[in-house]
Amino acid sequence: MMHALGLQAWAIDIFYEAIETKGRVRPEGFMLLGECGINEPYQKAQITINARAHDNRSALLQTLRHELLHIVMGPIQTFADAARRHAMNGTEDLLSAHYHECVERTVLGLERLLDWGHNLSPARLATKGRRLIAMAEGKKRRKKR
Ligand SMILES: [Zn+2]
Repeated sequence: MMHALGLQAWAIDIFYEAIETKGRVRPEGFMLLGECGINEPYQKAQITINARAHDNRSALLQTLRHELLHIVMGPIQTFADAARRHAMNGTEDLLSAHYHECVERTVLGLERLLDWGHNLSPARLATKGRRLIAMAEGKKRRKKR
């Protein structure tokens, strides 16, 4: 799936484990499905998929794609981080809230673009990624001979 989203240059660690949500502010009834930490300048990221929130492969792939799309949005996070550093006292939290709302809506838009515009469900995207890897490996083997 990373290849299908153009993220092959990134070093991404993916964990499947319970995510502790105690003390975090979440909308009522909202289950945290996953989270993603991005070090955009170094193209490194860490995705954690909440094992408590997934009971089938399809849902898991949906969350994985969502978190990978956050990595695609990495430069926007770098901009938001810089904006927060320069924010006036007391406006950092407001900026963070706006950033999270806007980035989640953009990721949702990208998910719809893939699902509705290109018929690329998470499972199809994973299959496409495997095909791209196989093609790339085939080219490498041909070059060596
Ligand atoms: Zn998200």
